[in-house]
Amino acid sequence: MNASTFLTGPLLLLQLCVTTVLSFFARLLDKTFSWTVGACEGPGSDPDVNKASPNAVTPTSVNYHFTRKCNYKCGFCFHTAKTSFVLPLDEAKRGLKLLKDSGMEKINFSGGEPFLHEKGDFLGKLVHYCKQDLQLPSVSIVSNGSMIKEQWFQKYGDHLDILAISCDSFDEATNQLIGRTQGRRSHLDNLYKIQNWCQQYKVAFKINSVINTFNVDEDMTDCIIQLNPVRWKVFQCLLIDGENAGEEALREAERFTISEQQFQDFLDRHSSISCLVPESNEKMRNSYLILDEYMRFLDCRGGRKEPSKSILDVGVSAAIRFSGFDEKMFLKRGGKYVWSKADMKLEW
Ligand code: SF4
Repeated sequence: MNASTFLTGPLLLLQLCVTTVLSFFARLLDKTFSWTVGACEGPGSDPDVNKASPNAVTPTSVNYHFTRKCNYKCGFCFHTAKTSFVLPLDEAKRGLKLLKDSGMEKINFSGGEPFLHEKGDFLGKLVHYCKQDLQLPSVSIVSNGSMIKEQWFQKYGDHLDILAISCDSFDEATNQLIGRTQGRRSHLDNLYKIQNWCQQYKVAFKINSVINTFNVDEDMTDCIIQLNPVRWKVFQCLLIDGENAGEEALREAERFTISEQQFQDFLDRHSSISCLVPESNEKMRNSYLILDEYMRFLDCRGGRKEPSKSILDVGVSAAIRFSGFDEKMFLKRGGKYVWSKADMKLEW
């Protein structure tokens, strides 16, 4: 053993000790850092991440409520006039194009009353754009029917597949009680007039009814058979916090709600009508992709409408993760059906 060997031994030992201590601290630091990262970015810490759907959702069928304003005052309304905002036409078209590029096949325009803004011209231009430019298989509207003029059908009827008119009763007094009317005007006269125009201008005619305390005992069979809609959507009156229930709401719909059994009795009474499509609260709540006036998806899972960011700001795939959309329920409630008038076997 020479001197250098003798000297190298303790040095090596010291070096080894230092390396071990350093690596221990390095591992400790590394672990501490990992835990910190986990705490900040891991699932469960960000409330927004918790609300997001982990699955990719295709916006096959979208309901765009481009306005909240309405000339009616239905007591159970669950999309109330909380703002008077409407997007500029070009921005609305940009959003519709983004949806089409993400897989949208059907667009439904709704409100508020969609024929109110610019006397239906804004709506007509969107309908024309969706059918002619975007070539969507299905373009539809839900309206209360009170603002529609024959000239609208002459100008835009070709581009519209389905027009749904809301009607909850064939008794004018009941419509008055519900608020489904403007002043003393007849809601039913409009309904029959529009059914005729739909025939004349080759638009599929649909009826939507909300079953509530005031119409739950009615028998509508004869009137529905006479009007012969392609589809009769029958909804159970639904409470949405902040819209028709709770402190910030513009309506108090509690007195309109009915039980599951009452809803079932209504359906049983109308079981002979083959075009009837029932929607209980359970089926309805999360099975619609709803876009509000800013093109934000509305998530109803918590019993109120929580908005996502706008698709105009973050794109469709980032926004739709916060829509709360239940695709299985959408299919279960028959959300996908023959929705293009070209494919319907209708006698015009
Ligand atoms: S017609 Fe009635 S339910 Fe529809 S938006 Fe107007 S007030 Fe609401």
